[in-house]
Amino acid sequence: RQQDAMAKRSKDDLRSPICCILGHVDTGKTKLLDKIRQTNVQEGEAGGITQQIGATFFPADAIEKKTAVLGADRAEKLKVPGILIIDTPGHESFTNLRSRGSSLCNIAILVVDIMHGLEPQTLESIRLLRDRKTPFIVALNKIDRLFEWKAIPDNSFLDSLAKQKPSVQAEFEKRVSETMLAFAEQGLNSQLYYKNKNFAKYVSLVPTSAHTGEGIPDMLNLLINLTQSRMSEKLMYITELECTVLEVKVIEGLGTTIDVVLVNGWLHEGDRIVVCGLNGPIVTTVRALLTPQPMRELRIKSQYVHHKSVKAALGIKISAPDLEKAIAGSRLLVAGPDDDIEDLKEEVMSDLTNLMTSIDRT
Ligand code: GDP
Repeated sequence: RQQDAMAKRSKDDLRSPICCILGHVDTGKTKLLDKIRQTNVQEGEAGGITQQIGATFFPADAIEKKTAVLGADRAEKLKVPGILIIDTPGHESFTNLRSRGSSLCNIAILVVDIMHGLEPQTLESIRLLRDRKTPFIVALNKIDRLFEWKAIPDNSFLDSLAKQKPSVQAEFEKRVSETMLAFAEQGLNSQLYYKNKNFAKYVSLVPTSAHTGEGIPDMLNLLINLTQSRMSEKLMYITELECTVLEVKVIEGLGTTIDVVLVNGWLHEGDRIVVCGLNGPIVTTVRALLTPQPMRELRIKSQYVHHKSVKAALGIKISAPDLEKAIAGSRLLVAGPDDDIEDLKEEVMSDLTNLMTSIDRT
């Protein structure tokens, strides 16, 4: 089965990359996510940005619209269907998001406050990213706080910078050099993304403002460029399932549910699934696959939309019996007709030692 799945892989059929946001508290992680999502509210559902369980999906159309302001600097062509950004910023979500001992994030955004530079949790984040070998970009956020910055909402960063007074440009250059020096002290080469000639050796810095939206087109474009050019191997769509439990939650009317990120493959109602439990592996059957109602339909009684089946990558809530002892961070496996349940139980539990270490740490 694995071989069949591998043979069917193609660079023309990529899944959406999964992106995490981390960094020191108050650097603007939440605000950045809100700002990217806002287009959704303002333009109705036109952009097709969907809020999912534990994640937000930004389809290619919405990214194309958002990056239009970049003109010729835009990525040549979007090959990925979109980007799935994990909503819960911070360390806990990142440490728990493992899949086969590594992070499920394909790429991360490390947010740094341009006025503060590297802070204690920034350094911790760098360590985590290195441990997991997760590629990342740096959002140098809060550029609107540079003294006398003149904001041009949602503009490309370079255009905004060109329109600032020389004193503002000078303060920007000074703060960027300080940040690059601080990264160098951590053993990291960094460079402003538009000057970066070697993405393998230099971490890209993208100046942003979560308040004015400036630089956000640049950030999205960079994410697309990096994932498409450097990760297409990893992103080739396969039918082989890859799925991780984000959270275990009790929901009124549904009982204990698990929120999962489906990284690759399909899930169907009625699938027999296996996940890690505190008292051993749990084997159960998917009763419902759920996502939240779209924004404008919030008045509808039921809180969730039911799906017969779903395709990666997305965040989804699973309702099934016997999930009370399920462990966040566990992999989720689906038992096919030819699978030996005992093998799957063993496979799923083999990650447990790793999970326990990360639970201890949080
Ligand atoms: P988090 O802890 O990293 O999620 O940070 P938040 O998103 O909660 O932001 C922390 C504070 O910084 C809030 O008061 C935000 O309004 C503010 N903030 C975030 N991004 C920006 C920005 O780009 N410019 C300015 N001026 N303030 C920002």
